[in-house]
This record gives sequence, structure tokens and C-alpha cells, in this order.
Amino acid sequence: MANFFSDNEDLQFYVQQGIDWGDLVELTERGFKSPDAPKSVGEAVDTYRDILEMVGEFAAEEMAPVAGAIDEEGVHLRDGEAVIPKAQKKIYDRMSQLDLHWLCVPRELGGMNAPLITYYMVLEIMSRADVSTMSHFGFHGGIAMALLVSSIREGTTTYDRETGSIAKTRFEDAIREIGKGLASGTMDITEPNAGSDMAALSSFGEQDEDGNWYVTGEKIFITSGHGKWHFVIARTEKAKDPNDPFAGLAGLSMFLVQAYDDLPDGSRKRWVTVERIEEKMGHHGSVTASLRFDRSPAHLIGQRGEGFKYMLLLMNGARLGVGYESIGLCEAAYRLARSYAAERPSMGKTIDKHELIADYLDTMHLEIQGMRALAMWGAHHEELAQKLDLAVRLDGARDEVERKRFERELKHHQAKSRRATPLLKYIAAEKAVEMARTCMQIHGGNGYMKEYGAERLLRDALVMPIYEGTSQIQALMVVKDTLGAIVRKPQDFVQRMAQTRWRSLSAKDALERRVAKLQLLELDAQQVLVRRTATDKIRSLQDRPWTEWSSALRKDWNPKRDFAHAMLHAERLTKIAVDVLIAEILLEQTQRHPERRNVLDRWLEKAEPRVRFHLDEIVHTGARLLARLDKEDSFDDIASR
Ligand SMILES: Cc1cc2nc3c(=O)[nH]c(=O)nc-3n(C[C@H](O)[C@H](O)[C@H](O)COP(=O)(O)OP(=O)(O)OC[C@H]3O[C@@H](n4cnc5c(N)ncnc54)[C@H](O)[C@@H]3O)c2cc1C
Repeated sequence: MANFFSDNEDLQFYVQQGIDWGDLVELTERGFKSPDAPKSVGEAVDTYRDILEMVGEFAAEEMAPVAGAIDEEGVHLRDGEAVIPKAQKKIYDRMSQLDLHWLCVPRELGGMNAPLITYYMVLEIMSRADVSTMSHFGFHGGIAMALLVSSIREGTTTYDRETGSIAKTRFEDAIREIGKGLASGTMDITEPNAGSDMAALSSFGEQDEDGNWYVTGEKIFITSGHGKWHFVIARTEKAKDPNDPFAGLAGLSMFLVQAYDDLPDGSRKRWVTVERIEEKMGHHGSVTASLRFDRSPAHLIGQRGEGFKYMLLLMNGARLGVGYESIGLCEAAYRLARSYAAERPSMGKTIDKHELIADYLDTMHLEIQGMRALAMWGAHHEELAQKLDLAVRLDGARDEVERKRFERELKHHQAKSRRATPLLKYIAAEKAVEMARTCMQIHGGNGYMKEYGAERLLRDALVMPIYEGTSQIQALMVVKDTLGAIVRKPQDFVQRMAQTRWRSLSAKDALERRVAKLQLLELDAQQVLVRRTATDKIRSLQDRPWTEWSSALRKDWNPKRDFAHAMLHAERLTKIAVDVLIAEILLEQTQRHPERRNVLDRWLEKAEPRVRFHLDEIVHTGARLLARLDKEDSFDDIASR
């Protein structure tokens, strides 16, 4: 029987050795108090492996064979409801039978209580079979967990210390409905005039005199928008002008909206209208809907004005999810290309023996290994951060010492997850497109024909750098976090540079010295951008009295004016950061698992020239374009006066 888990050695490495399960299982099992809990970390991991084996077989034997038919039939709108392909309906029924929507839901709410990292691995395995079917699956368990986390955050979940279990949680009915596969959820952010720029969102929430909330507005491109439970971000605070504290992101609130109810007479009452289902280039099995909210009853989550905070909470997980989805697609592209190349003869041998094609295949394999290392590292830290946070909120700390320790560990994991998430979203989505294209190219003319499945992969991949925050937005986040940290604590940066230089010369292990040299190149790139930003800033202060300089340098930063260099080179800096972080993670792996040395060695061979090239671009390009933009800006300023 084909199995997308057991045929994947790299994925198995993580389950067997690569993931440090100890703390994760302890936090997930909350003291192993439940009578149904596994008795040890080892027993828990055996169960996760069994689940992944089962999903691997389901994906290979049941999902993958119908992916082409689902793509062909597509989804459409009939009488205001979504109609999904017949083969896909069967797959969703099987997912419910296999209890897959319950994967990470706590046991006391009816779930399997598996860690989130297993959910992400399931996303990867299913994406290898069919990304569009996977994406609807992702909006079941993912939304159930988001409902629970939101309730814990806002303080509407109670916990029984004795049994180590959740006693009551605000959205329990919805969570149980989703777990049973009877409903799905969505995340409704995008509007016709607000995509990347969320400060421009204009849907609004209003309250009647009895305190009930209603949402009005239009949301577009909503994945699984035909679902029942909608997280909706909408404006509740009207700002008088842009300097009002409630202007932009601070005026947004988060709501849960029930889109419909199925009545006992078999009819459906709707509070949210599905206006249309988009016809797309790819992802034909995934519903992408335009929705109209017209005073739709809504439940406020958290406090007014906290919408952006809750959205980030949901989005971080979703971005990691797209990272795993993209890796699944890369794996599909690599394997399809590899098996085709092994069969296709040209000029006296099969094409996988021709140097160029062999290099493509080898690079794809290595890049998947590198991205998976980044994905596992990021998801592990994200889950530890979330679970520590939830443990403190639900259970509290035994004493001050424990509270301080929790806080320290939480900060540590949060910082690592924040570093990894935009890098993973960026690189995995971009590589999905690149690898799908390489796969098609390796198929030659056949790749352009539907029959071989390569063109579907490319159509499906192209959206990955767009949704859940475009690649450009990820790159801007990377720049903001990296340079912001240097500006806040320049002394730490100087110290890091000195320590890295020392390691690049003195580390005993040659691979460690090479990783340190790569890190030095990244620090060089950051330094160049900080220097240029500071030089521009000081130049811009020349017309102001010097007594104002200190305050301007501390407070008066305008991203549009002051960070032009950094924004121009954001993607280059991000590509360097990806190469360096993956090298660091692989180095950590080799120290515990020496058999991984060859992965790091191969990674460095590719990453070293790439990083030097991007650094060179940062140092030597862009001045001409920035001067032109600057001139156009001042022309606009003059024209508008
Ligand atoms: C198939 C599909 C499914 C989707 N599912 C959902 C969903 O479930 N929920 C949801 O809310 N939304 C969803 N979306 C919407 C998606 O998140 C947005 O399309 C995305 O955030 C980009 O917004 P936009 O389309 O308005 O593009 P814009 O924001 O207009 O961006 C256009 C281009 O400009 C670039 N750009 C914008 N600002 C900057 C800047 N400051 N610096 C540099 N470059 C910039 C962008 O990177 C992009 O390349 C989905 C979209 C698609 C295609």
C-alpha cells in the first residue's frame, strides 16, 4: 500500500528523533492526569506515529487518486450554497469517519489531544496528495483550536486543576460541531479595498442598546467561506482623523459570526450571504467566496480594539500552516519529476542521468530537507510558546520562581517562532512555485498536458506566495523585526558580531566555522542597511535645530521616509536570513544526530555563494532607483501644495 508518511525518510526522522518531544508532550498532556492519557512520552509519540501512518495511507490511497477529478469538476454556487465535487464529498466523509477533525482538540472536549505539530505534519502529508482538499480540512481542526485559544485568552475558559482538564469553554458547541465534521470555519479579513493594508478595513461592528453586536460589510476571497463559524475582523471604533488613537489597526475588533443554522424542517436560515464563488486558476477544489454581512449577529471576542491582536494570534498558526502546505506541494513536485526523469530516455540515457536534470532533482531534495528543518523548528517553538502561555493562563504558576521561569521560557520560544514564521511562509511558498515549474520543465511537452498532473501543481502553487500575507509582506516583517532589534539594542548587535567572528575562526568543527562565516555575512548585510538608514536620517535632520536631534532619533521615525533602503532590499535580506537560519538549525541537528552532517554540508555548499550574491546586491544596487523615487515624491509634494 502506498503511504505518504512511511515512504518519507526525512519526515520520519523528525517523529523518531528530530523533534524534542519531552516538553511538548508534558505540556500537551498536562500532568498525564486523564485516565485516557498515554502513560509516558514514548507511548504518546507511538500514538502520533500511528496517526501519521494512517493519514499517510489515506492521503496516498484515497486522496491522491481523485485529485485530478476534483480539479476537473471544481466547486460552484447553486441557490446560495456551495456545491463541491462528488469525489471530494466522499473524502470529507472519510475524514470525519477517521476522526481527523478531532486531532488536536483536548480529550475532555472529545478530541485526540495530539500536539499541533502533528496537525502541521498532517497538512504536509495531505498537501502532497491535493492542496485544495487539504485547505478545507485545515479550516476544521485549525478553527476549532483557534476558538479554544481565543476563549482562553479572553478568560472565558475555566480549568479543573485536580483533573488537569478544561471544565468549561465559551465556544464548546462550535468546537464539538467542527470536531464531528458537521461544520467548518473561516477567517474573514480581506475586503475589496483592504488586502495587505489591514488598516484600510471598513466592515464595521455595532452594538444595540441591549449590548448585542452586529457586523456589516463585504469580505472577499474567503477560503471555505461557505462554512458555518466565521472569525471576522471589523471596525468598531470610528476615528476622527489619522492621529486618533483608534485610527487604523487600533480601531479593529474580532468577532465570531455564525453564518447559518440548519432548521428542524430541513431548511437553512442564513445570516451571511455567499454572493459568489470565484473561478480560479488553481485550487479548484477549494471554495473561495465573497460574503455579505448585513447586520449579521456577532459575538465580540476579547475587548473592543483588540481585533488585530487576535488576528495575529490566528494568523501566525495559519502562516506556519501555509509553510507546511507548500512543503507538501514541493514534495509532490519533486517525486513526480524524479519518477518521470527515471523513465524518460533522451540521447542514450534516462534524463535523470543528465547532469542538468540531476542537479535540479538534487537541489529540490535538499531544499525540501532544509525547509522542513525550518518548519519543524518554527512549529515546535510556536507550540511551546502557546502551550506555556495557556498553561499560565489556565493553571497559573505554583510560586513566583515558577512564574518567572515560565515567563523566561515563553519569551525565548516566542522570539524563535517570530523569527521562523515569516521566513518559512516566504521561502516555502516561493519554492512551491519554483519546484512546480521545475517539475513541469522536467516533463518537457508532457508537462504542459493535463494528463501528467505537473501543470495542476503549478496552478495550485501560484497562490501560495499570495495568501496569508504576500511574500513581500513577510519580507517587510523580517526587515522590521531584524533592524528594529538592532536599533533598540545596538550593543547586543556589536557583541553578536564579535562572538560570531570569534567562532568563525576558533570553532573546532569545520562545519560550525562555516556556519559562523555565513552568519557574519548576514550581520554585514544588516549593518549596511542600518548604516544607510542612520545616515539618511541624520541627513534629514540637518535643517532642524540640533537640540531636536536626540528626540527625533529616539521617536520620530517614519517608515516611508526613513527605511527606504531596508524596504528596497527586504527580500534579499529575507533570503539571506532563510539560508542562515536553516544552516543554524541543521548545525544544531548535527550536534545531536551526526548522521545529519551531510545535509548541513550540502546546504552550506549551496547557501554560501547565494548569500554572498545577495549581500553584493544589497551593497551595490538600488541607489539610482531610490534617488528617482525620492525625486518623484518631492515632485508630488510640490504638486500637491
Ligand atoms: C485563493 C485565495 C484564498 C484566500 N483566502 C483568504 C481567506 O481565507 N481569508 C482572507 O481574509 N483572505 C483570503 N485571501 C486574500 C489574500 O489574503 C489577499 O489576496 C492577500 O493578502 C493580498 O491582498 P490583495 O489581494 O488585496 O493584494 P494587495 O494588498 O493589493 O497587494 C498587491 C501587491 O502589492 C504588494 N504590496 C502591497 N503592499 C506593499 C508594501 N507595503 N510593500 C511592498 N509591496 C506591497 C503585495 O505584496 C502584492 O504583490 C485569499 C486569496 C486567494 C487568492
